[in-house]
Amino acid sequence: MLALSNVVIHFDGKEALNIASLSIKAGEKVAIVGPSGSGKSTLVHHIYELLRPSAALCSQRQGLVENLSVYHNIFMGALNRHSWFYNLINLALPFKQPLNEIGQIMDRLELSCPLTQPTASLSGGQRQRVALGRALFQQQAVFIGDEPFSALDPIMGQRLLAEVLSAHDTVIMVLHDVNMALENFDRIIGLQAGQKILDCPVDELNFETLQDFYQQAGSCQQNLTAEYSSELDLAKNV
Ligand code: ADP
Ligand code: MG
Repeated sequence: MLALSNVVIHFDGKEALNIASLSIKAGEKVAIVGPSGSGKSTLVHHIYELLRPSAALCSQRQGLVENLSVYHNIFMGALNRHSWFYNLINLALPFKQPLNEIGQIMDRLELSCPLTQPTASLSGGQRQRVALGRALFQQQAVFIGDEPFSALDPIMGQRLLAEVLSAHDTVIMVLHDVNMALENFDRIIGLQAGQKILDCPVDELNFETLQDFYQQAGSCQQNLTAEYSSELDLAKNV
């Protein structure tokens, strides 16, 4: 489905990503992990650009329109499913079918705020679920997520991950929670300083291999140890 070779991306003359090769098959569930600044967001945005017509992206930046309602922000995920005329009328007077569909998505995301509430007045966790709803509403075969549950408690994050996994054939997701990656994905890719330094099926991964990955993260190890220690303890028991 996707084959990258020699992808090099710079920002302001500084290398952010340098991937010699990376391929992902249709149907795979792939988690991407690594310290902050290691190139995870750059990689998933690049993948999204390549898969765009058949992929939905739930970005770390969310990109919500603050003064529009929850309903309209989610509806925007699928503007290209309808004519501009349909979209224009729906903006003023929402149609019944998308209202029902979006109501159901909100139930699945455990979002109990009114459909008409402007996103500007939502909490961080609610905003993140609206962004997730917009990606789910696209009903694409491929879901690309960039830390889509970072503002949610781990139990809700796990429930919503199950929703995302069941609704998409292929899932490519940046995750902060290593245990979540080990328990729910087929394969884990680890980045450090823009390079791929880990790419393994989860059944070949254990606490030691992940520890090696963190040790290779070099100067970042100190932070990682503190940040991930509880998750690594959990990973040990997998
Ligand atoms: P991660 O998602 O792993 O935290 P990013 O992909 O966001 O990492 O960033 C990788 C590197 O590229 C970092 O050094 C970051 O500062 C830099 N970078 C990312 N996006 C931009 C941008 N739009 N402009 C300048 N530098 C950027
Ligand atoms: Mg990022």
